[in-house]
Amino acid sequence: MKYDYNAVRSVDEDEFSRHRRSDDEITKNFTIADSEEVKRMERLLDAPEGSLGACGPYCLQHTNCQNCGRTLTMYDFVLTALVDADHPKAFVFQVLTGDKKVVQTARRVRCSCCATTAAKAVQYHCGAYACDDPPKP
Ligand SMILES: [Zn+2]
Repeated sequence: MKYDYNAVRSVDEDEFSRHRRSDDEITKNFTIADSEEVKRMERLLDAPEGSLGACGPYCLQHTNCQNCGRTLTMYDFVLTALVDADHPKAFVFQVLTGDKKVVQTARRVRCSCCATTAAKAVQYHCGAYACDDPPKP
């Protein structure tokens, strides 16, 4: 089973902590999904309103769409997971809200406004899901 949460590799709390970004770095380099964007993520995943909130904040490395200028957020990231990676909604929801701490590589994200995929991979961070690429100096 390709998208079986049971098969998702979890790292321990110590290792996950090493991928945490400082508040400073998040403020400087990341876009935090606001409550409207989080609600849109919940609707996109057919999840109850308020169900994602506790597992945030949902941070995506600051990137503007090179085509339409939209500031990409974790909403675009989730959309990309569904559309481009063909992840089932329930799987994505479970990864974002489950007990496992998951570390993955930076991803190229598709803009939800104009469907253009960003030229470079971006880092991301939320409560249970983080990016393993070292922070840029
Ligand atoms: Zn765009």
